Amino acid sequence: MHPCPRCQAKVEANAIRCPQCGLVLKAHGHPGIPLYRAEGEAALCDSCTYHLDDTCTFPQRPHAETCTLYQNAYQDPKADRPVISSGQQMRLWLNRRAGLIALVALIGISFLIVLVR
Ligand code: SF4
Ligand SMILES: [Zn+2]
Repeated sequence: MHPCPRCQAKVEANAIRCPQCGLVLKAHGHPGIPLYRAEGEAALCDSCTYHLDDTCTFPQRPHAETCTLYQNAYQDPKADRPVISSGQQMRLWLNRRAGLIALVALIGISFLIVLVR
């Protein structure tokens, strides 16, 4: 038995819908296809391995609220750290701050042009 993410009612592990609130819990009406659901404001993609390694081609990326292929990159039972490499973490960090980095670079280039004159 698992708690329903919406109403917290206890639900059978293979239930397709929550019997109390009707929330869809499995994809395509099949008890063997889990439907992962974002909790809170953050999209599933933010913590998904396929987003972090840039291999996901789903159209709902990077704002997926539900997904059948979600894989939690931070769920490593042996260690309390991400299972992604440091290179992937760095790329993700740069991707998330691309706008800010471009702005800082533009300001830097502008200063250089002013100083060279
Ligand atoms: S597999 Fe799903 S959750 Fe993961 S990045 Fe793709 S759309 Fe997002
Ligand atoms: Zn429910």
